[in-house]
Amino acid sequence: MSNTPYPSNWPYTGNVISPDEFTFPEKIDPVVIARMYETRMLLGVPCYFTTNTRQTFTYHPHGDAVDPDSTSHSVASLHKWGIDHQASKAQGHTVYDSDVLGQALDWDCNILDLDDFFDVYLKMVQSQLWNRIGVYPFWHRLGFHTDLGYNKYNWFRDSVGDYHTMTWKNWKQHVILHPATFPNKENS
Ligand SMILES: [Zn+2]
Repeated sequence: MSNTPYPSNWPYTGNVISPDEFTFPEKIDPVVIARMYETRMLLGVPCYFTTNTRQTFTYHPHGDAVDPDSTSHSVASLHKWGIDHQASKAQGHTVYDSDVLGQALDWDCNILDLDDFFDVYLKMVQSQLWNRIGVYPFWHRLGFHTDLGYNKYNWFRDSVGDYHTMTWKNWKQHVILHPATFPNKENS
């Protein structure tokens, strides 16, 4: 399959979104790639996806589309192709649907400063390009999960792996006021 629109007109040299940057590019919903293209235009910086284009280095393991039976993500994960995400979530087990493509990406834009990282999050919220944004300040590379989920919801994962609704109060309590846990430990 080759209907995924990997734009070739990204204005910055060398920053075309390439299928080579993903493990299963043909299994990613084209809408995801289009939104990611818009996101990168908005941010104006290079973004890093599953792998480098030569596939010699992994930035985000299982960061694009994954097999419906993969154990790398939860049962109803939007990373999975080939499942009915809503039915799988409702029933707590995999409900297959071969027409469905992966609807999530994990990525980063090589930001090391926590405040700058949060600003990127705010820009994305304002843009409304993604229905759901997961913020991962303790990944090896500070990064984001973005997806086309049905309900708008934003969250972050703290240094011990607990998930919290993204509010300023939560972020301050679980990330900013835990400088001892920063810079991040390996965690993806
Ligand atoms: Zn993800």
